[in-house]
Amino acid sequence: MIERLCGFDLRDCVLRIELKSEPMKDTMDNTQHPAHNLPAPQIERVRHELRRRSLTVADVTDITPGMRRVVLTGDDLADFVSLAPDDHVKIFVSIPEGEERRDYTPRRYDNDARTLTIDFALHEAGPVTQWALDATPGATLAIGGPRGSAVVSTSVKRWLLIGDETALPAMGRRIEESDAATVITAIAAVADPSERQTFDTKAELNLHWAERPLADATDATSLLEVLRDVQIQPGTFVWVAAEASVARAVREYLVTERGYPLPWIKASGYWVKGKADTTEKFE
Ligand SMILES: Cc1cc2nc3c(=O)[nH]c(=O)nc-3n(C[C@H](O)[C@H](O)[C@H](O)COP(=O)(O)OP(=O)(O)OC[C@H]3O[C@@H](n4cnc5c(N)ncnc54)[C@H](O)[C@@H]3O)c2cc1C
Repeated sequence: MIERLCGFDLRDCVLRIELKSEPMKDTMDNTQHPAHNLPAPQIERVRHELRRRSLTVADVTDITPGMRRVVLTGDDLADFVSLAPDDHVKIFVSIPEGEERRDYTPRRYDNDARTLTIDFALHEAGPVTQWALDATPGATLAIGGPRGSAVVSTSVKRWLLIGDETALPAMGRRIEESDAATVITAIAAVADPSERQTFDTKAELNLHWAERPLADATDATSLLEVLRDVQIQPGTFVWVAAEASVARAVREYLVTERGYPLPWIKASGYWVKGKADTTEKFE
């Protein structure tokens, strides 16, 4: 059983073993929070079979100068499943010393058409960004996962999404998959107006762009300036993902200056400046 779980690397293996001790599905405590006076939102954790899939590049488009969209195809996608917009797959790329792996968001997928779309924020390249820069139709790519989804209850109808370029795929997916009864405020840090994206959605969307040079991706100031003017209504789930120091600063601001309750915040460091293959989670 352990061999089967150790599909990709030791880190996946350890995590899968931890997950195995949990029930197949669970929910967070419904503790009342005085500052918010609402029960914490239910988050259902669903595990998926961990599989490695071999895919082929069908299409490559730069949706903005700094965001490359790659559409992958392959029969291995027939049973691909991703239940939450902030799921991630592992992308595997070969290097002379072996294999590198990084986390990326399934931006869109279609089992019938056997397609999976991934958006790559382009930066001074690590191995996966370099793969995306070199990608042309016909190239191959191996992916693994998602190994699980954290599904926030559909009873949550208000969202505040805050993030940088690496968070935009998950933010865009949340925006596009939401229904007409959902109200979303999104604040995205990008380098300049040419990096603004458009989203098709039935939801009521208030979209803010917080511009700053990519060299300042570790500075939360531009996001916080916009956030200070945003009213956060009770029952709003706040989702934050960015360079780790920025995600931490935004989370800290929400908790200490706005008194926003932690059960209604999910913040993640999607990358760490100066460190390859590094992410951070804030509990
Ligand atoms: C759950 C999750 C989902 C993610 N989804 C996406 C996604 O859909 N699209 C996406 O583009 N990214 C996404 N990321 C972020 C992505 O995994 C990292 O940016 C990753 O480090 C890129 O790998 P790399 O091989 O290019 O660079 P690495 O080898 O990891 O890093 C090389 C150098 O580049 C720096 N670096 C890494 N990322 C950036 C960046 N964005 N800007 C500037 N410098 C950087 C590092 O600090 C390091 O110094 C996600 C991360 C997580 C945790």
